[in-house]
Amino acid sequence: MNAKQRAQELFERHYGALPEGVAAAPGRVNLIGDHTDYVGGFVFPAALRLNTAIAYRRSAESNRVCAVSEALADKVDFGLRQEGVSGWGGYLAGIAWALLEAGFELSGLELAVASDVPTASGLSSSAALEVAMARAWRTVDELELDDVNLAKLCQRAENAYVGVPSGILDQFASSVPAVGQAIILDCRSLDYQVIAIPADWTFVIVDSGASRQLAGSAYEQRVKECAEVARQLHLRALRDLQAEQLLKLDGDLLKRARHVYGENQRVLEAASAMKAADIVAFGRLMSASHASLRDNYEVSSPTLDRLVEAALAFEGCYGARLTGAGFGGSTVQLLKRGSEDAFGAYLEERVPSARLVARI
Ligand code: ADP
Ligand code: MG
Repeated sequence: MNAKQRAQELFERHYGALPEGVAAAPGRVNLIGDHTDYVGGFVFPAALRLNTAIAYRRSAESNRVCAVSEALADKVDFGLRQEGVSGWGGYLAGIAWALLEAGFELSGLELAVASDVPTASGLSSSAALEVAMARAWRTVDELELDDVNLAKLCQRAENAYVGVPSGILDQFASSVPAVGQAIILDCRSLDYQVIAIPADWTFVIVDSGASRQLAGSAYEQRVKECAEVARQLHLRALRDLQAEQLLKLDGDLLKRARHVYGENQRVLEAASAMKAADIVAFGRLMSASHASLRDNYEVSSPTLDRLVEAALAFEGCYGARLTGAGFGGSTVQLLKRGSEDAFGAYLEERVPSARLVARI
């Protein structure tokens, strides 16, 4: 059963009634361009075929939201204007807060959540939950909200309500592109271009088995370091850094800036490589990205490094890198279509904690 069917079934079991509808949104994988979103740079994600689904029905109590999730034992119950909801309900309460703040009127809802997006694996289960929640309210309350603005509101919910200072990448990639397409996004202007993934390429996502906790981790420290470089060099954001300005930096700040500068260039080159169907060039850029995340940005882990090294030793793997924030989570590999199964078996044998979780 897919996530939508399971959400519907969970709803019927829990509330003893049929839902009015089921909203869904996909997880995403970032093919290249990590830690460039919150500095206003370029990213290159694709939507997964894995979804988070929310079955919904208007509640008899107009100002309350209650929710159950297949994945979690704790139930959620909060008032629409309630502040400080913690735990997973915070993602739902955050969406209510952001929509109300934007001037929309919302109904109270009863919800049941089911998901195929693994949690805290770098595939953005939080954005999938937020976008699915916002889509449910968009339908129920007939909100005039396009996909780009919906993504922005979801980001605001995660930043200001949940308290994770993430960029727009996750919510945008969950809200805007169609499945099977890659999308190059300028995180400052939100200009984007959809690029078809060549038919004989396939991206394989491998969960390293090492989970991570984003809020409160070194992620926030990296965001601060990037802001500090921008402050020292009088830049609007680190995205505006020119190569010669690297000479003015040293220590950790130099390493962080080097990563951001190089990664932005790599995303632009990767978009050209995909348009030209140049699998060798695209793969090389992915591997260079991993090296920079490991050495300059210092967000890799021994398991992720081992996975990437093993992947690259597989004949027919063109590129490999950690994807998402790092510190554990997943890697993404570029293969020629048809070698996915052999690759999955090969990798799971070499790194026992690894599991092939998705393919595009
Ligand atoms: P990710 O990389 O998966 O987005 P995060 O730490 O940002 O990792 O978000 C994971 C959190 O999102 C979970 O701890 C939980 O609070 C919430 N979440 C995601 N999916 C679900 C779900 N299906 N049901 C309930 N909560 C979920
Ligand atoms: Mg997240």
